[in-house]
Amino acid sequence: MTDKPRTTHVPLNELDEQGRKLHFRSILDSVPDAMIVTDESGVMLAFSRAAEALFGYTQQEMLGQPVNVLMAGRDRANHDNYIGNYMTTGKRQIIGIGRVVMAAKADGTLFPIDLKIGEARIGEHFLFTAFIRDLTEQQRAELRIQEMQSELVHFSRLSAVGTMASALAHELNQPLTAVANYLEASRDLLDSPDPETKEILREALSEAARQAVRAGEIVRKLRSYVSRGEVDMRTVHLRPLLLDAIALSRISRDHADIPVNLELAVADQRVQADPIQVQQVVINLIRNAMDAMDGVDDARIRVRTLSPDEAGFVAIDVCDNGPGLPAEMKEAIFKPFATTKSQGMGLGLSICQTIVEAHGGEIRAITPPEGGTCFRFTLRADTGKT
Ligand code: ADP
Repeated sequence: MTDKPRTTHVPLNELDEQGRKLHFRSILDSVPDAMIVTDESGVMLAFSRAAEALFGYTQQEMLGQPVNVLMAGRDRANHDNYIGNYMTTGKRQIIGIGRVVMAAKADGTLFPIDLKIGEARIGEHFLFTAFIRDLTEQQRAELRIQEMQSELVHFSRLSAVGTMASALAHELNQPLTAVANYLEASRDLLDSPDPETKEILREALSEAARQAVRAGEIVRKLRSYVSRGEVDMRTVHLRPLLLDAIALSRISRDHADIPVNLELAVADQRVQADPIQVQQVVINLIRNAMDAMDGVDDARIRVRTLSPDEAGFVAIDVCDNGPGLPAEMKEAIFKPFATTKSQGMGLGLSICQTIVEAHGGEIRAITPPEGGTCFRFTLRADTGKT
């Protein structure tokens, strides 16, 4: 036999047995999905090249083995019953329908697959052909989308803080007015200190104290609403975190077309951080930069990371080429409610500071000589091996 392709036309059904085997083998070698053929007792009769790559077994190792070695959990134990049930009842649970199940690789890793099974009847016997597609990547992508969605929910909550703050002012007004009234009444009562007024005085003062505590609780509620509780520290890869933050900062934004560059001093820098909270910081800084550059020609934003310093902290800069910090704000920018924007709450930077400091880092504004504004914050570099 020669390796040269033959040019004479041979219909498939006229192939001799050797030809059919070769043809079947070429299918097994080239079919893009993992393909496994079993008999009705679940013993494997064919195992494609893609199946070898997917499961980490060779065809030699698998032929003659029960197919449930590739299955995980309950499916592994129950597979014989599944086939038995189908053979006696003819009821299709998976054949021709397809299903997502867990499978096991040779090294024991479990992973999700999309399993489709076809059947062929040959005389008294059945052959089952399974087509298997690895869903690991797809599930990872879905997980990522879910995470992005929860981040967005958190972000829209943060944007809602603006709306909430006016409600808050309203709510705070009531206990604070009450405190003022009780104290004024108490002051007047001091003029006639008989035992009866003393008792009223005591009540008025304790009521004032109660209202003051209530006001404190309202403020505490706002803080936990914004900071979403504890810092959930873990190892975080900075690059994807910053890329996501850049993408999120563009959502529903007037200046979303301002280019944002990312420069990394270390390609795969890892830090110890709560990723969602750190994203919040970056998003806030980028959005402030966008606001500051309203009307600026050639507006640009640069997000860049520096190599870890001697103390093991990585600096992250968000820089713009806007007009710089307003003179009257230089001292006050991190103070709550300090704002120069008509619609601003002045909470963004104070929230950023709370988050960065809860991470053990620092945040400050830098005024570069060439103009614009940079905000620099630091996070602890992760030196672990993982
Ligand atoms: P808000 O954005 O609601 O005003 P922030 O605390 O985020 O609250 O910002 C406080 C103030 O700091 C802003 O009102 C603005 O005056 C100033 N500021 C923040 N970022 C920049 C920047 N990149 N360039 C110029 N000024 C800025």
